[in-house]
Amino acid sequence: MPDRAFSLPPALYIHVPFCRRKCHYCDFASVPLEADLVKRYLSALKREAERELASWPAGWEVPSIYIGGGTPTVLEPEDLEEVLAVAALFPRAKGAEWTVEANPGTVNREKLALLVNAGVNRLSLGVQSFDDDLLSFLGRIHTAREAEEAWDMARAAGFYNLNLDLIYAIPGQALSTWRRTLKRALSLRPEHLSAYSLTIEPGTEFGRRAQAGSLTPVAEELDLSMYRAAQELLGEAGLKQYEISNFARSGFECRHNLVYWCNEPYLGLGPAATSYLRGVRRTNRENVGEYVRALAEGEDPAAVREIATSSLAMAETVILGLRLISGITWERFANRFGCDLRDVFAERIRRLTGAGLLEADERGLRLTSRGLPVANRVFQEFLP
Ligand code: SF4
Repeated sequence: MPDRAFSLPPALYIHVPFCRRKCHYCDFASVPLEADLVKRYLSALKREAERELASWPAGWEVPSIYIGGGTPTVLEPEDLEEVLAVAALFPRAKGAEWTVEANPGTVNREKLALLVNAGVNRLSLGVQSFDDDLLSFLGRIHTAREAEEAWDMARAAGFYNLNLDLIYAIPGQALSTWRRTLKRALSLRPEHLSAYSLTIEPGTEFGRRAQAGSLTPVAEELDLSMYRAAQELLGEAGLKQYEISNFARSGFECRHNLVYWCNEPYLGLGPAATSYLRGVRRTNRENVGEYVRALAEGEDPAAVREIATSSLAMAETVILGLRLISGITWERFANRFGCDLRDVFAERIRRLTGAGLLEADERGLRLTSRGLPVANRVFQEFLP
C-alpha cells in the first residue's frame, strides 16, 4: 500500500541563510550578511517558488509556514518583505500557523509590525541564555536585557504566540545558572519554549576549541540534571512537555514542527533547505552562490535526492514519532502504511520495552522517562 501521507499538502519552510556573524556553536547553513548576495538570493528564492507553484495541485493549501535561518530578521525591512511575499504566493489553509525566527539583536518595531501585517502569527526568539557571560561565550550578538526588550516589543506588536529558544549544558554553566535562566524565561510567560542541550559540532568555533583541548563538554550527569530541571520548572509553570526538547501551553504546540515529527510532507525553499514530497527527500545546495547560479540557469537547486523506501519511511515515522511524549499510535501507523507497527518492529519493541526505554499500551508506543534522555540510542535501534 502506498504511503497515505503522499497526498497531504506540504508544510512550507523558507531558509534565510544570513546572520550578522557566526555564533561559536553554530553549524546551521548561514553566511554573513552581504547586500548584493541578499538581492540575488531573493530573486533565486522567488524563482524556486515559481518552479514549485507551476505544478502545485489544485486545492492544496499549506497547513503551516516557517521562515527560519540563519536570521530572517537580520534582513532590511524591504528584503524581509520580499521573503514574506514569496511565502504568501502559496495558498494557505485557514488559520494556518506562520512562524518567523528572530534574533533579539536584530528586531525593531518596524520589522515586527511588518511581520504582523503580513499575517505572521508566531515568533520564535532565539534567546539561548539570560546570562550575559554565557551569551558572549556563545558568540551571541545580544545581551539578556536586549532579549527581554525584544520580547516586550514583540508582545506590543501583537504577537500572542511566542516561542523562546534556550540552550543548556554550555561548558562552564552551573546548574544554578541554568535554573536562573529558566526562571527568567518563565517570568516572560512564553506560550512555547524549546530547550536544547548544546552539541559541539565539528567545523564550528567550539568544535575547533574542543579539538585543541581548550573546551571540555559538560559531563553527562550535569547535562541530565539540567534536562530534569527544565522538565520540573517548566512543568510547574504550566508548560507541558510534548516533545523531547519542546514545551508548550496547551494549544500552543508548534504545528509546523509536528509535521516533521509526524514525518509528513514539507517543502523547503532556499539554500540547504530540505523537502520531503511524495516519498522523496531532497536537499538544496548549501552554498548561496551555487544555489543562486543553479536557479538563474534554470537548473534544479537540489544537491541531494533520496527515495524513502517504504521500510525507511516506516522506520523514520517511528523514530520521529517517538520524539513526541505521546509517542506514536498503532492506529496512525496502520492507517498510513496498511500494516501493524507491532508486527514490523516486533523484536525491537520487545527488546526496548524489556530494557525499560520504551513503553507500549493499547494505544501506542512511547519513550519512558528513562528513555527520553537517551532517545538517540533508542532511535538507532529502529534504523533499517
Ligand atoms: S544566529 Fe542562529 S543561525 Fe545565526 S550563527 Fe547564530 S546560531 Fe547560527
